[in-house]
Amino acid sequence: MTNKKVAIIGAGFSGLTLAWALTKQGFQVDVFESADHCGGLLGTDQEIIPVEKAANALLASRSVENLFSDLNVKIVEAGYRSKKRYIFKNKPVTFPIPKLKAAMTLVKAVIFMITKKIAPKKNEMVSEWATRCLSSDFNDYLVSPGFQGIYGQSSDQLSAELVMGGVFNKALRPAKGKLKGSITPEAGMRSLIDPLQKYLKEKNVQFHLSTSTILNEKDFSAVVIATSIDKAVEILAAKAPLAAQTLVKVPTLPLVTATLGFRQLKSIQGFGCLFPAKENFNSLGVLFNTDIFPNRGHLESETWILNKNENILDLILADRKKMLGSEEKPQFFKITKYQKALPLYGLELRDFLLSDSFTRSEAKNLFEVFKNGARLKESAQPLYLTGNYLGGVGLAKILDYNLRLTERIKKDIA
Ligand SMILES: Cc1cc2nc3c(=O)[nH]c(=O)nc-3n(C[C@H](O)[C@H](O)[C@H](O)COP(=O)(O)OP(=O)(O)OC[C@H]3O[C@@H](n4cnc5c(N)ncnc54)[C@H](O)[C@@H]3O)c2cc1C
Repeated sequence: MTNKKVAIIGAGFSGLTLAWALTKQGFQVDVFESADHCGGLLGTDQEIIPVEKAANALLASRSVENLFSDLNVKIVEAGYRSKKRYIFKNKPVTFPIPKLKAAMTLVKAVIFMITKKIAPKKNEMVSEWATRCLSSDFNDYLVSPGFQGIYGQSSDQLSAELVMGGVFNKALRPAKGKLKGSITPEAGMRSLIDPLQKYLKEKNVQFHLSTSTILNEKDFSAVVIATSIDKAVEILAAKAPLAAQTLVKVPTLPLVTATLGFRQLKSIQGFGCLFPAKENFNSLGVLFNTDIFPNRGHLESETWILNKNENILDLILADRKKMLGSEEKPQFFKITKYQKALPLYGLELRDFLLSDSFTRSEAKNLFEVFKNGARLKESAQPLYLTGNYLGGVGLAKILDYNLRLTERIKKDIA
């Protein structure tokens, strides 16, 4: 047990799960949130059908399962109808590369692995890496759409070292639990955030909502900034100005999501469909919500992801006609626009992670900050960062980063 107090700025998934991990180690925690509610990007609107504001699922992992079990939140696993994942190549298909070409690419990849040419080069983008080590077809129809589905960006914008390194780095891969694939709280993300906040209040975490400044800052042994990049830059301008100058260069990308409800069952069932850039869709992809988590509302629900700003519904209905041949009009739709949705895992973020902003325990290594937690060296008061730009955009990765950051804070100040 420790009587040390930690202030967390931001009560999205990053801030709340860090508070959860710190209280389990006996820290006293205060959370400062500028909005009048917790959850940040996460939340479920209960309208004609449930609509998730951002994430609709978490990837199952040991720590995600521990979190749910500690909060007593019932887990729902993805349904059997979501087993197939589609990529569009003239029509929705489950594997878009001809078998012979795929076999030849596999041989090439194995040779690259044996000759150690598979490692991403400095400044190489994912599209360049995939074309060099696999083939242009693999890049266009598998790698690029796959990463587009996770990061909301095409692979020529993503740093191969940052993204592929994360995939191959064992220490950064969430440990497996009992479940596999996508899981969700029974009544949507709001039914995770509310119990998490209730649990934290019971552990005497003080919530200061509608508050951007830390009250009595000197009372805290450490401060953690748990906001999106743009807001972190504003806070760092006073506390760690050199770090702010490097972090401000990392772009945060806009995204639009639209959830549509239909009466008729679609002609295909699955997790969703990704649209390779070469196929000229307006959208990046679509999730088939009802196939993933059935029995939520009386309409067939789909969530479309785009990075367009105008005539969203018309663009989606044109894509839907191209994908399914259907001209059915939705009974319901809700569009959410984010000016700043997700951080770009590009060369600017790579530069930030390799910059002199952090106190380091070992030689400069791209993944050291992801592994050991980000502590900024300009600030005399221990100052840390957490968020979806420090190990992965997905919730399971954020949770694992927070568990490692908690160990770091414990070592530094407990
Ligand atoms: C459309 C979309 C779909 C997604 N789908 C998935 C998915 O299916 N699965 C998955 O795992 N991930 C998904 N993600 C990613 C995931 O939702 C995010 O990475 C995650 O929710 C980010 O949480 P966060 O706490 O880091 O940031 P945020 O949710 O942005 O929280 C930051 C908080 O800080 C507060 N704040 C900001 N400035 C201040 C200040 N000055 N003082 C105090 N408080 C402040 C904000 O109000 C906010 O509450 C998706 C993201 C998007 C956009």
